[in-house]
Amino acid sequence: VIEFRDVEKRFGDNVVLKDLDFTVGRGERVTLIGPSGSGKTTILRLVMTLEELTGGYIFVDGEPLTHEERDGRRVPVSKKHQKNLRTRIGMVFQQFNLFPNMTVLENIVEAPIHVLGRSKQEAVAKAHDLLEQVGLSDKAHAHPTSLSGGQQQRVAIARALAMDPEILLLDEVTSALDPEVVGEVLNILRRVAETTDVTMLIVTHEMSFARDVSHKVMMFDGGHVVESGPPEKIFSEPDHDRTKAFLGAVL
Ligand code: ATP
Repeated sequence: VIEFRDVEKRFGDNVVLKDLDFTVGRGERVTLIGPSGSGKTTILRLVMTLEELTGGYIFVDGEPLTHEERDGRRVPVSKKHQKNLRTRIGMVFQQFNLFPNMTVLENIVEAPIHVLGRSKQEAVAKAHDLLEQVGLSDKAHAHPTSLSGGQQQRVAIARALAMDPEILLLDEVTSALDPEVVGEVLNILRRVAETTDVTMLIVTHEMSFARDVSHKVMMFDGGHVVESGPPEKIFSEPDHDRTKAFLGAVL
């Protein structure tokens, strides 16, 4: 479903990712771990097309997301093509990023109506369903600023799911939350993992969550994959000293 081929990402002279190749299969849940600054968030932002890809290719469902090779040259894909692919991808951010001037319900129905062209009635019905799933049925008409961080993040999850994404990107979704509400947000995501076949690419510091939901864990350092494998292997018997040191510091 997602393929990175020879990906390079530079910010000016700072090469953050280099020669990066990996694939995420349909329905697979992959967690990226590694020290701060190793490029994990940048990977998610590249898939969401929030950052410009400076080298290589990313494919979604086999289709080029940003650039394609034509006559031996790397050329950008059309905006229309990219926008179309983008509708299959949802993202939940560390800082929720809800629209503050809209109600909870308006936040959730905005993209289904304006991007997917769904009827208002259909979008609203689905939004109510999703609000029930995240335990916020009574907050449909509230404004995000009146909600706690944990509640806002649950709305952000509902908003992402309202688009029926094929791919869900989770970027440190509990890092900005008070410790006592981290569990409720992770439990909702565990349930999404159990009850849907959405492909997930996850960046998290919550190692027990990563262990529970991931099919595969990829350890990053310095923009490279140090090692990857099933969570039982990476968390219990990592091969690399770099992984051992990282897990020793966070577990
Ligand atoms: P963290 O866990 O702290 O979020 P990370 O592994 O997700 O770390 P990234 O946020 O992807 O790391 O950042 C990787 C590198 O890219 C860092 O050196 C960072 O300074 C740099 N970087 C990220 N975004 C930008 C930007 N917009 N402009 C310049 N440099 C950036």
